[in-house]
Amino acid sequence: MTDSEAVETLAPVTLDSKLATVVGGKTAVALGKAFGVLTVGDLLSHYPRRYARRGELSSISLLPLDENVTIVAEIRSVDERPMKARKGSIVEVKISDGRGILSLTWFNQAWRAKQLQPGMRGMFAGKVTDYRGHLQLTHPTYKLFGPGADDEPEMPTDAAAAKLWIEQPVAIYPATNTVASWQVAQTIAILLDSVGPVPDPIPPELRGERGLLPQGRAFELIHRPETDSDWRRARDTLRFTEAFVLQSALVQQRLTARQQQSTPRLPTPGGLLERFDAGLPFTLTADQQGVAAEISTDIAQTHPMNRLVQGEVGSGKTVVALRAMLAVADTGGQSALLAPTEVLAGQHLRSIARSLGPELASSLMPTLLTGQLPVAERRKALLRVVSGQAKIVIGTHALLGDKVTFFDLGLVVVDEQHRFGVDQREALRQKGAVPPHVLVLTATPIPRTVAMTVFGDLDVSTIAELPEGRQGIETFVVPLFEKPGWVTRVWTRLAEELALGRQGFVVCPAIAPKQLEEGAEVDPEAAAPASVETVLADLRRNPALASARIEPLHGRMTSEEKDQAMRAFAAGKIDVLVATTVIEVGVDVPNASAMVVLDADRFGVSQLHQLRGRVGRGGVPGLCLLVTSAEAETIARERVEAVAATLDGFELAQVDLELRREGDVLGSSQSGGRSSLRLLRVATDGDLIGEARGHAQRLSEHDPHLDTVPALREAVLRRLDDAERASLTKS
Ligand code: ADP
Ligand code: MG
Repeated sequence: MTDSEAVETLAPVTLDSKLATVVGGKTAVALGKAFGVLTVGDLLSHYPRRYARRGELSSISLLPLDENVTIVAEIRSVDERPMKARKGSIVEVKISDGRGILSLTWFNQAWRAKQLQPGMRGMFAGKVTDYRGHLQLTHPTYKLFGPGADDEPEMPTDAAAAKLWIEQPVAIYPATNTVASWQVAQTIAILLDSVGPVPDPIPPELRGERGLLPQGRAFELIHRPETDSDWRRARDTLRFTEAFVLQSALVQQRLTARQQQSTPRLPTPGGLLERFDAGLPFTLTADQQGVAAEISTDIAQTHPMNRLVQGEVGSGKTVVALRAMLAVADTGGQSALLAPTEVLAGQHLRSIARSLGPELASSLMPTLLTGQLPVAERRKALLRVVSGQAKIVIGTHALLGDKVTFFDLGLVVVDEQHRFGVDQREALRQKGAVPPHVLVLTATPIPRTVAMTVFGDLDVSTIAELPEGRQGIETFVVPLFEKPGWVTRVWTRLAEELALGRQGFVVCPAIAPKQLEEGAEVDPEAAAPASVETVLADLRRNPALASARIEPLHGRMTSEEKDQAMRAFAAGKIDVLVATTVIEVGVDVPNASAMVVLDADRFGVSQLHQLRGRVGRGGVPGLCLLVTSAEAETIARERVEAVAATLDGFELAQVDLELRREGDVLGSSQSGGRSSLRLLRVATDGDLIGEARGHAQRLSEHDPHLDTVPALREAVLRRLDDAERASLTKS
């Protein structure tokens, strides 16, 4: 990537100009691949992660392992020697922050020994790994300060200027092993020099009131600050701008939704819903009744419902959703229930059929539609859907397929929302002749600011209480690092549960040794994570579990096999399921009392909470054992301890927010791609987000089409466009 690749253009450069028209094709492609950036505006919003100083060395002891880092360091020693076993030479360079040492190694690149001299300083980038107790940078790249560096300004000779040069913040960008931080900086400098006036998405009065910088100035100062206060001011401006544009986009979406026409769905007196309610074997909790009332009001309107129902695992969201489906069926309409996995879809079908009872089931014809149905069955299902016979259609994302046509789709229910993106919700919505009502269910409690940020276009209801008669769950951490012997105790404890006639789950991060289930995080050099195959074999040999029927359940089984295993487990024909996180969501077997999670530190807080929610669902108390080898006082261990410390999902969601990065919290489907948050932190910027929302709402009330702030309208469109692009790149 060099300046010579830059292409001269006559058209003025704007935020929407394609990168390739300004900086040359190769650079644009490399940046596009690395960061998903397409336009000038995209790259200008690729903000520095932090700022270094030429005169200040980065602390090596604080560097995270196995991440790409960029640091400022000094070269200590340079050593070139022939390789022992083969022909060729090794250059080994040690860099230091004054205390710690990192080594950099190159094979057959002897020229580096001449370029790199002890005493030189520069930026070094690569992945930090621990090789037999010594830290090293793998695939190292570097840019030296001063002489030898291509476009880096040399240290001035005059003392005052030199001091400035040493103290000036140097932007360090999120980088990859193909594009280094300083290459990003170079390209951004070209953009800043060529872009025309940047229009301001913040109305001038609001900008004045909050003391914000003009957009163009903010871009300049965040990327090329001369002092710390430069980038701080720029960051404040850009952070508010981000919140304001996002909230304006959400407010706009809400306004658009309100203007849509939908069919009001009112239950018929003496109809399906009434019959269902009459046969319900329990009374709804007060929270369930409250939410049910909100939903019936919503779906009786002429514009579509857009509601999120959040409630703990087992709080009884499904029955609330089912009641809405029955109201829709009373008007002759159909409902679609979108489940994240085949297992869950199958289970929903069975439990819905069960709670409807034979008579209602025969008139509603609940129908399963998943990708793995045999062709003949699939055809039959499709026919029932298009004819309108099936009033309740349950499926996985196969429901979104082109071939699926509804006769009268009145309601879309999305279960376990965090597995689905906005785009999928949208795709299903498109299946109605008129926009259907939409109900989103989630067992992952959502802190208020996240709800406002990610689900700002939805109304939110909460089911906080659990139905009576739940026995509670006891959770214990089994710390193998300190107490390796306790693992035996885990299996005898499981055996004791089975002896009481109960069942259990054993969850592993991997399916087979060395092969991982999607979503699990791994470090290739660390000990292999527990796998279903190994653990299954071990448990079958374990004398404590000699009489137990132990079977696997994981994502690599066919859906038929999975379904069979789930059914057998539900019917009590299997005692222990050794599984991956396929059982994470929604699986409902009241007799299951034990949940053993192996390598629990490899799972996130909400995942662990979800897993735990699989037990203690019926009249038997639950037992959850979180087995971990993580050392005390590491973040990994802290996550596990946090889950053991409380059953309160909201509290855990907050912990999760604080311990994990945003993207992980929101789930890749929501935070993926370029539509994710940049400078906003939902854990800490709640007030700012709330204020931005207020301003956005007031503006949209006076000026629903944002005619007075065209730059905001464009920014909103750009934001929606980003979301669309993110969803396209995913499929
Ligand atoms: P969620 O989807 O919120 O995790 P479910 O809807 O699957 O929870 O409900 C869990 C179990 O509790 C189901 O077996 C359901 O029949 C039962 N249930 C739901 N509401 C009540 C209630 N009010 N009283 C007793 N049991 C209930
Ligand atoms: Mg559920």
